Amino acid sequence: MGRIPEATVNEIRERVDLVDVVSRHVSLKQNGSNFKGLCPFHDEKTPSFNVNRARQIFHCFGCGEGGNVFGFLMKRENLSFPEAVRSLARDCGIEVPEDDAGARDATKPLYEATEIAQRAYRIALASPEGAAARAYLAGRGLSPADAERFGIGYAPDRWDTVAKALGAARIPGEAGERAGVTKARSSGGGHYDHLRARVTFPIQDVRGRVIGFGGRATQAGQEPKYLNTPETAIFHKREALYGIPAALEAARKRDRLVVCEGYFDRIALARAGIEESVATCGTALTPDHARQLRRRAREVVLLFDGDAAGQRAIASALEVLLPQGLRVRAAVLPAGDDPDTYLEREGADALRALVDGAAPALERVIALAAAKGVATPWEKSDAVASVAPLVARVQDAVERTELVRRLALGTGVDERAVEMAVRTAARGGDVEGAIAARVAPATPVGVAEGTPLARAARDLVRLLLAHPGLAGRVGAESLLESLAETAGLEAWCALLGAILDHAALGEPVDAATLVDRVSGAARVLLQQLAVEDVPVLDGAAAERALDDTLAALERRRLRRESAETTDALRQNNDVSLLAAKQRQLDRRKAVQKQNAVTPAAS
Ligand SMILES: [Zn+2]
Repeated sequence: MGRIPEATVNEIRERVDLVDVVSRHVSLKQNGSNFKGLCPFHDEKTPSFNVNRARQIFHCFGCGEGGNVFGFLMKRENLSFPEAVRSLARDCGIEVPEDDAGARDATKPLYEATEIAQRAYRIALASPEGAAARAYLAGRGLSPADAERFGIGYAPDRWDTVAKALGAARIPGEAGERAGVTKARSSGGGHYDHLRARVTFPIQDVRGRVIGFGGRATQAGQEPKYLNTPETAIFHKREALYGIPAALEAARKRDRLVVCEGYFDRIALARAGIEESVATCGTALTPDHARQLRRRAREVVLLFDGDAAGQRAIASALEVLLPQGLRVRAAVLPAGDDPDTYLEREGADALRALVDGAAPALERVIALAAAKGVATPWEKSDAVASVAPLVARVQDAVERTELVRRLALGTGVDERAVEMAVRTAARGGDVEGAIAARVAPATPVGVAEGTPLARAARDLVRLLLAHPGLAGRVGAESLLESLAETAGLEAWCALLGAILDHAALGEPVDAATLVDRVSGAARVLLQQLAVEDVPVLDGAAAERALDDTLAALERRRLRRESAETTDALRQNNDVSLLAAKQRQLDRRKAVQKQNAVTPAAS
């Protein structure tokens, strides 16, 4: 995989919105010019995680984590930089150049490796070694014919089933590793199998090519119960849907897709004649999934467990499905049931009736919110606040109005008040009207704070970030020199230096770009400034403020020089110093005069 051109990276950075990306993972509330939420990188109860939409920077005042949209995805989804870039490129429909012919050639051996692995697993299931696995499948109501239909296999409790099969097919070990079916030995070379002692489910792309595997433990006490092959160049868990190729035709005919959470669930649905069913592969539904579903059908039926976790999963699935304009229903199983236990006990007709009769998911959410209690005004307001953000995501205006009416009826809250709450939610506003606790910004270690120079440096960075065009007015060297002499300002100098360098080279001077160019305390300072909530000055006022700050720094420098000369005069009685002293006094007067004509001088 080659380097991604800088222009493409910039295009993606401009096209995506950090607030949208973060919102997939963190529930954010607008707070002034920032969005606030609970930090996904450390455990906290009051939000100190800030996202600034204008600057496209996030920063946590609790743990110091921060950066731009690429940094967020890298940390949150454990991706490399190119992976994060490609993932966002897919989101906004930008083609990343190297991903064409060269990449197709590069992925070919991966598909070959997964095909070989699939064949090896199928053979192992039928072999004497697979007896326990066959018994396990029979225990879950699956016949050998079912196993064949769904391509179910068995990864024996050995290290070399796939590794050997790849070798016999002359597939390089490295291709197996890149396909996620084998791993490299830490010493001595060679590869060993990724999945062992597990029933295997082939995960395919829309074209029916095997891209990865899910593995279910067959031995008691074996952890984890489910293990997937890892994320690879062909297996992206954020978009993979188990069962998709088999579901396509039925989905087109019925204009709907049934979404469940596991391999056995999807198989139970298909066995009941609901071919248009898919399962996520070990992740919650993502916007990538939602877009895929929308391309194939108008309606989605969620089939999740009836327990509390299942209810929460429905609400978070709605968050990603509704913005795509999908009609979402929720079928709910009796407590303690899975689709396959339900199918076994009640039969295929009953499972189909359950799916066909699924109620609109939002109506279910409204009913559940109301069931929590709406006796007191507080309870009513909580119920409305919990559902309003979901109603706000419904794209169809008629449907939205109807849902507002239902929510008002269900909670006994005035319809206009509900409508207002939904509108506030649509704007991204704070529905509860609660003011999130303001967390005092913590300053990184070793950075001087509160001194006039530190304040001046902060003002300068703030101004230059808002008005990069003003950078030309700043004499970089003398400025940095006068700051660098003071301990604790090193980070400010690094940051100012980076800004002035970027401006001089004509590169973008925005926080989202700069954050990748500075490190340590300078980076933390930049993140803090990028998410702080202060009014941005207009051009003329910014120019005046900049001149004031520079003049103040210059006065400081001259005062110090003058004091040094006075000291030297006292000690040496050198006459030549008198002339220097006079020159310094003149300059100080000149600077003062210049400053006096500036109306905004402080
Ligand atoms: Zn944090």
